[in-house]
Amino acid sequence: MIGTEEDVTQDLTRAVGGEHVSSRPSDVMFYARDCWARRHLMPDDPPRHPVWVVWPGAASEVARVLQVAGRHELAVVPYGGGSNLVGGAGFGDDRPVLVVDTKRMSRVLELDETSLIVQAQAGITGGDLDEYLRVRGLFVAHMPTSLSQSTLGGWLATRSAGAFTSRYGRIDRVCMGITAALPDGSVVRTRVAPRRATGPDLMHLFLGSEGALGIITAAHLKVVRVSKVRVWLAGGFKELSQAVAAMADIMSSGTRPVVASIADPVVALRHSGQPSFMLVCSFEGDGELPVVQRDEARLLVLAHGGAYLDPAAASGFWTARRNDVFGDIIARAESRVIGEVDIGADWRHLAMVADDARGRLESMGCGVTMELGFFGLEGGALLCKWQLPEISDPEDVGLRQDEALAIVLDAARRGGGAVAHHRGVGRQRSAAVRAQLGNRFDLFADVKRQLDPKGLMNPWLTEGA
Ligand SMILES: Cc1cc2nc3c(=O)[nH]c(=O)nc-3n(C[C@H](O)[C@H](O)[C@H](O)COP(=O)(O)OP(=O)(O)OC[C@H]3O[C@@H](n4cnc5c(N)ncnc54)[C@H](O)[C@@H]3O)c2cc1C
Repeated sequence: MIGTEEDVTQDLTRAVGGEHVSSRPSDVMFYARDCWARRHLMPDDPPRHPVWVVWPGAASEVARVLQVAGRHELAVVPYGGGSNLVGGAGFGDDRPVLVVDTKRMSRVLELDETSLIVQAQAGITGGDLDEYLRVRGLFVAHMPTSLSQSTLGGWLATRSAGAFTSRYGRIDRVCMGITAALPDGSVVRTRVAPRRATGPDLMHLFLGSEGALGIITAAHLKVVRVSKVRVWLAGGFKELSQAVAAMADIMSSGTRPVVASIADPVVALRHSGQPSFMLVCSFEGDGELPVVQRDEARLLVLAHGGAYLDPAAASGFWTARRNDVFGDIIARAESRVIGEVDIGADWRHLAMVADDARGRLESMGCGVTMELGFFGLEGGALLCKWQLPEISDPEDVGLRQDEALAIVLDAARRGGGAVAHHRGVGRQRSAAVRAQLGNRFDLFADVKRQLDPKGLMNPWLTEGA
């Protein structure tokens, strides 16, 4: 570090105002963590606290903060809702850490109700953005389960996917433009136009960058009109491969479900009373269209050997999913033995990857639940959760968790899929990035060096470069 802690505090105070800079123990302890359960619990890997937390209110203030960080050669960690499950908080080396919490940048800047585009600051939570839009008969076309705990900037930085992805696309299709402060303290804005062919679209460089290239301060997103009609479809299948084949056909049939998931028999049993793989879809719109689409999809369920279940099982699954969010976070944080990861594969490999991961985890003695979702025309995600068998030696828990994670990532690789589908990599999976990117890894590392020559920003994506 160049200068003393007092020098840095004074410079940060000049950048954002004294009331928006903190080194209070309660703040620095809080910001060392996010929702990555391992960060909370592993005695072998205690979190390193930041020295400062700042709350800038605008892009210009973020830029000034980054200039201060550059001058003093600090490590910078952007922080949105802290809801990531992969360990985005923290830093790799010994430099003093500055956390930049974006949550004071929480305003909606503009709404175009004709083109259906909203511009908001990056620190707005999904819940606040959704509330702003709902009273106007609109909603945000991106709906992660963590809606009220996560921020617009976090969604973009992790290349997130939401429950309505099957109809409206993942965040990279919902986002139309961004504003970001770069490590050198300049601010860039990408152009917002329905489409552009003026060279590569640099907006995409920042989507999934996990704070490695700068701090996203605002973005334009597509919004959608609230539909008058929503109908549900639930189908039960003996084999996962049948449910996957039915979902692939539904996705390519043009019926365009909004919610689309395949639940494990353990979860399905709670809602349908049947221990089968449960296909869940909602169809939304006005007039007769949703019912016509539902009936079309229902034929595809039957064509793949499925049974038509009470639609209340599908809506019950959806409601429980939305309502259990807090319980879910607490369960993850309290248990050392629960682990989870999101991977992706195309339709041809999805069921095979799931069966491969499940079989190998079960032979380790793990209890396993899986959910398939976030589908596109080409395939989707597999959310895999495992519970380790009781282990008496706490030192062993970390090793066994690493082993379980490696099994699932390996299953994704064997199926030609992605070792991270929509939650980013963080600390949890940074080691897997080089192998997954191949020679594109060095290309990305070059881009990072160009934009961030002092290496101020999150290093996970280019660790080992
Ligand atoms: C119960 C639960 C349910 C979840 N459901 C989903 C789901 O349905 N879909 C899904 O995709 N994910 C889900 N997640 C994971 C998580 O909510 C997402 O990864 C989310 O996008 C993170 O947003 P955040 O604002 O909390 O980001 P944070 O956790 O604060 O940060 C995530 C990463 O992005 C960086 N970052 C944050 N803000 C910025 C910024 N403005 N500019 C640059 N970098 C930034 C951080 O440094 C960090 O590396 C869930 C998590 C929980 C706990």
